[in-house]
Amino acid sequence: MTIAVIGTGYVGLVSAACFAELGHTVWGIDIDATKVAMLKTGKSPIFEPGLEEILQKNLANGRLKFTTDLLEALPNVSIIFSAVATPPGEGYKADLRAVFVVAETVAKNAEKPVLFVNKSTVPVGTGKQCEERINTILAERGKTFRIPVISNPEFLREGMAVSDTMMPDRIVVGLNDSSDENEKLRVPSNNTRDSKLETRDLIEELYRPITRANKPLIFMSRESAEIVKYAANAFLATIISFINMLTELCEKTGGDIRDIATGIGLDNRIGPKFLHAGIGYGGSCFPKDVKALMATAEEYNVPMPIVHATDEVNTYQRGRFIDKILNHLPSASAVAVWGLAFKPKTDDMREAPSIDVIHALVDAGHTVRAYDPVAVERAKPLMPTAGVHYETNAMTAIQGADALILLTEWDEFRGVSLADIKERMNGDLLFDGRNVYEAEEVHKAGLRYVGIGR
Ligand code: NAD
Repeated sequence: MTIAVIGTGYVGLVSAACFAELGHTVWGIDIDATKVAMLKTGKSPIFEPGLEEILQKNLANGRLKFTTDLLEALPNVSIIFSAVATPPGEGYKADLRAVFVVAETVAKNAEKPVLFVNKSTVPVGTGKQCEERINTILAERGKTFRIPVISNPEFLREGMAVSDTMMPDRIVVGLNDSSDENEKLRVPSNNTRDSKLETRDLIEELYRPITRANKPLIFMSRESAEIVKYAANAFLATIISFINMLTELCEKTGGDIRDIATGIGLDNRIGPKFLHAGIGYGGSCFPKDVKALMATAEEYNVPMPIVHATDEVNTYQRGRFIDKILNHLPSASAVAVWGLAFKPKTDDMREAPSIDVIHALVDAGHTVRAYDPVAVERAKPLMPTAGVHYETNAMTAIQGADALILLTEWDEFRGVSLADIKERMNGDLLFDGRNVYEAEEVHKAGLRYVGIGR
């Protein structure tokens, strides 16, 4: 099957490379010419484990191509995925401008029917709006065919994106049954078998290499699929906020949040995943999707107190950790920061806690020596222009530092000798924003330990 993926960011690029790896012929399309030029040479603009290997392999075997020009791909594709960004807009509503631009561009240029699949995270009702816009344009152009719009939300985790895409827990597809019945898809392909397939069959065919491995492909209404994505992210964010909510009580009473997590996580009805207390969730999805769900709920006048509380706890938790740091630090300290990305195994800096922490440190008159294995270049434009130095090595970052703050739990920080840290540092403060270290061992090495909920 020949498909196109519009938007080659964290989601689109991984999807394009994985669909090619699964045997399809894929066009990756982006308006960013620099990105496309880089991709054509087999270089990934983002850090994602395993991505560059499959990118290069499928460029070489000709199954993966990149272009800035939709028209180059359009005549041959059966399915177009839209995977453009939907960042927070006015009042935290999802900014859908790129989604609509893509839909309208397809409508203005399509000469044959094609299936339009929205992979971006979009508020309920967006698919319907896209379909209306597309079909209005087609009608204005005097075209008699229609372009169905379906929803196929993405659940990949950055840092695990390739394996999550190749082996997802589930694939959710939302399509509108009435339009499905009315509009049998006539696929613009020389492949006669394809031309007989309808929307559902086309999707089943596309994902067959994955469903063959017993991964569920679930069909539901387009509206349900759009809501599922926000529900999943809001629920996961709620678990994080729930465990974080208990950290202050632990600190004030002598409890240890890790024991609470174990104690409740072993209950089969709860489970241990996601019960890791820390400085609150960040990243390109949870903060924006929690807020966007709140905005949608407000639009429909639906109370969502749990979602509001999730967001409030997250803000409070971040502020609480920053206050703790500032209260402990002597004035004009030299502070080493380990980890800038919002989580390990990614260079994504969107809504990373390090941004708030480092700004607060510099505003309070401290200087920062920051290190991250892959995120430094993306971090620089988001950090204060003065007062932050970037190191290329974790150990040089702590040399002579008064304090060390761990913000991202990269594996390389877990195995470091605590005695080595103590020896290199000038001061003795270790702030563990991810509860990676054992307080007792830190104390034994002669350092003071400040964790979360312990
Ligand atoms: P991103 O910013 O990394 O990538 C978006 C890409 O789209 C960019 O390369 C941009 O140049 C391109 N683009 C913008 N307008 C375009 C246009 N008109 N034509 C062609 N290309 C265009 O975004 P992302 O992180 O990949 O997220 C994409 C969507 O997927 C969002 O809705 C996001 O919420 C959702 N999502 C993201 C993740 C994640 O972990 N990043 C996970 C699940 C879902």
